[in-house]
Amino acid sequence: MSDTITNTFNHNLPNADGYFGDYGGSFIPEELQTVMNEITQAYLEIREDQGFRDELADLYRHYVGRPSPVFHAKNLSREYGADIYLKREDLNHTGAHKINHCLGEALLAKKMGKKKIIAETGAGQHGVALATAAALVGLECDIYMGEVDIKKEHPNVVRMAILGAKVIPATHGRKTLKEAVDAAFEAYLKDPVNQLYAIGSVVGPHPFPMMVRDFQSIIGNEAKAQFLQQTGKLPENVVACVGGGSNAMGIFSAFLEDMDVDLWGVEPAGRDLHTDGEHAATMFKGEPGIMHGFKSYMLKDQDGEPQEVYSVASGLDYPSVGPQHSYLKDTGRVNYDVINDQEAIDAFFALSRHEGIIPAIESAHAVAYALKLASDHKGRSILVNLSGRGDKDIDFVVENYGEAYGVNVTK
Ligand SMILES: *Cc1c(COP(=O)(O)O)cnc(C)c1O
Repeated sequence: MSDTITNTFNHNLPNADGYFGDYGGSFIPEELQTVMNEITQAYLEIREDQGFRDELADLYRHYVGRPSPVFHAKNLSREYGADIYLKREDLNHTGAHKINHCLGEALLAKKMGKKKIIAETGAGQHGVALATAAALVGLECDIYMGEVDIKKEHPNVVRMAILGAKVIPATHGRKTLKEAVDAAFEAYLKDPVNQLYAIGSVVGPHPFPMMVRDFQSIIGNEAKAQFLQQTGKLPENVVACVGGGSNAMGIFSAFLEDMDVDLWGVEPAGRDLHTDGEHAATMFKGEPGIMHGFKSYMLKDQDGEPQEVYSVASGLDYPSVGPQHSYLKDTGRVNYDVINDQEAIDAFFALSRHEGIIPAIESAHAVAYALKLASDHKGRSILVNLSGRGDKDIDFVVENYGEAYGVNVTK
């Protein structure tokens, strides 16, 4: 399994300064840059270390339950006319792809002698995955979370507490993911020596976009081999949702050089793509800029500050995106498009009812796009990264959308 990691580790992007073309880099205070350089150095050493690779590969297999299956969704395929396959990251321990990079980051923190890992979380998935990894590896863990998300994602807040992590509310602005990042960043600045900021996606200053991508590349490397083994071919299309962009980079990275494979990244159009604050379609509507320590497409308000953003999926409402995605957009290697709240909820029920799989609302954006794509790609194959499961979303969905789908549950 270590060999499957090697492929992506050998990619020549980013360059030594952390740039993917024009995007990425590191725009942080001087004192933090010193620590960031140490993290880069430690990571570059560790990723060549066979002991580390074996330890991570062993955890992926026996703790996370990897490889996650690739499932041919025959009922959906029949209904929508294309051959739809699902990479089942929803079956991982903790229910999503985030455990892949959290274990990597926790092991790195431990080896660097850090005492605590801290992070932001949106839907709570990154927080739970990191709290899990911290418990396993033996580190303290502080999780910063917007007050709005704390209310919306209650079960994940409880999980983090049970796992021994401290959940710290971000109480300014819209009180969601962006504010949680602000709060975590501030806390990190106060003690970058004893803490490691385990960023939750392929965002932030170098080396995080590279490092998180590398840890997530296990998804694409597995999926490519599994798809080949099951069908004798490569998929014609690969679809993933894009918040910060880690699950998408994870699956795309294995296919970047296979030019016959069309890659599709799906951003959230929220309630209304044409009203600021009602969507989080960063690459679709944004422009290049710097926030949270890196350069990428971002959604800016009139003052050039990060725009307030919204999506029904808490894990997708971030006003920037991983720098490699910006690069892949400009080079045209990946197509980026949008799915709105309603389409995602339709897909949430379609997958639940045709295949008996309840997806995370984030992942439902990718499923929705695959269903759309199917009408133009009849008979073609589409591999969807099902980034997580929907347990965390069921109460919210039923309360807000249940009636329209004939779900009436009395409390
Ligand atoms: C966090 C999350 C996402 C969005 O994050 P990316 O970094 O864009 O992958 C997508 N799906 C699920 C299930 C998540 O928990």
